[in-house]
Amino acid sequence: MPLIIDGKETAARCLAETAQRIAGLRARGITPGLAVVLVGENPASQAYVRSKDRTCRELGMHSRKIELPADTAQDRLLDVVAELNADPAIHGILVQSPPPPQIDESAIVKAIDPRKDVDGFHPLNVAALAMEDPAALVPCTPLGCMELLRAHDIATAGARAVVVGRSLIVGKPMALLLMAKGADATVTVAHSRTRDLAAVTREADIVIAAIGRPHFLGAGHIREGAVVIDVGINRVEDPASPRGYRLVGDVDFDAVAPKCRAITPVPGGVGPMTIAMLMANTVRACGRQTGAA
Ligand code: NDP
Repeated sequence: MPLIIDGKETAARCLAETAQRIAGLRARGITPGLAVVLVGENPASQAYVRSKDRTCRELGMHSRKIELPADTAQDRLLDVVAELNADPAIHGILVQSPPPPQIDESAIVKAIDPRKDVDGFHPLNVAALAMEDPAALVPCTPLGCMELLRAHDIATAGARAVVVGRSLIVGKPMALLLMAKGADATVTVAHSRTRDLAAVTREADIVIAAIGRPHFLGAGHIREGAVVIDVGINRVEDPASPRGYRLVGDVDFDAVAPKCRAITPVPGGVGPMTIAMLMANTVRACGRQTGAA
């Protein structure tokens, strides 16, 4: 039987550590603050924003949720970001993705003060990660994947890792983290133009799937004894579910799990880690901005 990596349990431990740090800061009169900006009414985004707001409050952080109408202009959103940049009670700023089409997301990310960029998407943080600068604020999802590996004693040094996906929010930073000194994996990044993907992923000791296609990786993609981290969150129709859909990963869990040494489920794997890392990043950012770190 493979080890089923329990993201909920690992995230709960990370959150407990973060709560302790917050208590320490509050004892010194400092309350970390996170602002989450949502433009429009995408139901999945609304659910993510609610969950971030709730987690902040549960941990004793200051949370500001700013909901703007779907037709918000770029300049208005830039004004909101500027106001949050200047607000000393806010140490982390996040604009929920995806924004409506009139918004230039990249310009918004660049407008966020890099010290408050708890998503780690600002070019200065991307560069800092690539340069292995410990001051980098690192994107939460790949950071959560690294924490899952660490917490489950899955060695990365010398391991062959294949990251499927090359997005700025998951695939690229994931590859950088795995190849960084200290993690020391030998990393291959695959994408939609990769020839014979299964032959590439079958070489891997560790497969990270960040594709966005339900059950895309099957038993033929994975070698015996591999570790599989499934980042994918995909809605598939399910008439038996009260919501009419259920969430599945990029990996066909039932087909792949019997071959694995360890695997993350969806839901309950990487997802809970992302929010836990967001909280940790906010507390780190707060520590730096207030000189308390
Ligand atoms: P993107 O759509 O930005 O990137 C998907 C990547 O997968 C691209 O690099 C794409 O290649 C690659 N890809 C697509 N089709 C194939 C294929 N047939 N073969 C090989 N590679 C392929 O997605 P994200 O990185 O934002 O997200 C990936 C998944 O992770 C989604 O399911 C998303 O919902 C989930 N996610 C989960 C999070 C969590 O908290 N657990 C957080 C963020 C995302 P190319 O570049 O060539 O197009």
